[in-house]
Amino acid sequence: MGYVKFLGTAGARFVVARQLRYSAGTWIELSGTQVLLDPGPGTLLRCRRVRPALDPARLSAVLLSHKHLDHSTDINIMLEAMAGAGTKRRGVLLAPADALEGEDPVVLKYARRFPARIEVLTEGKTWEIDGIQVQAVRHRHGVETYGLLLNSEEGRVGFVIDTKFSPTLPEFYVGCDLLVLNVVRREWSPDIDHLSLPEAVEIIRAVEPKLAVLTHFGITMLRGKPWELAAQLSEKLGLEVVAASDGLTVESTRWLSR
Ligand SMILES: [Zn+2]
Repeated sequence: MGYVKFLGTAGARFVVARQLRYSAGTWIELSGTQVLLDPGPGTLLRCRRVRPALDPARLSAVLLSHKHLDHSTDINIMLEAMAGAGTKRRGVLLAPADALEGEDPVVLKYARRFPARIEVLTEGKTWEIDGIQVQAVRHRHGVETYGLLLNSEEGRVGFVIDTKFSPTLPEFYVGCDLLVLNVVRREWSPDIDHLSLPEAVEIIRAVEPKLAVLTHFGITMLRGKPWELAAQLSEKLGLEVVAASDGLTVESTRWLSR
């Protein structure tokens, strides 16, 4: 059975720097294929510390939405771990062009020998990874950033990563059974490059997923008690909204059986 496991749920500089929540990435298994999204600080450690432990050598791919540190710090070590501790070339890396080229690429040249394939993320293309079709949605977030859509026999799973809200954003996620949203701010904040809760609500309302999960919390969301905010939203929207916590596993039956 497929699942999405939140190894970390920290979302802004202060929450990450003080590790008020873990800043590790999200582990996804769909149709028997395992991929890892956004290996932020502490991802490898969290993979091995959760129970049951997760084995990076079983990953088919590492997906990097953008190069900000809270998403990319562990990218190089995860590429090596995916490749059987660097003993072979193995797995796929999907990453934006500016994570690979230009002034400050976060993927070390040295580590590029580990994946069997490196693909540059871009909108309008589909990548096939062992039964999962991956598509990217361009976001507005300073550095080159993409949301992700994963299609498999276990439904359509969408990740709205860090982005400024735009009215055209929800349509890319229509049809998602599970929708995961990075919600940094509690109050409506149109001037920052992150989603606030009211903007996330607008997206959920438009997409109408079977299950919505909020994650990547900044301090104002944490102070607001995300689990209480999610419960209020479930009632208001008439669909299930859950706040992720560190280590939360959401099984595919929760978004397939409704
Ligand atoms: Zn970011």
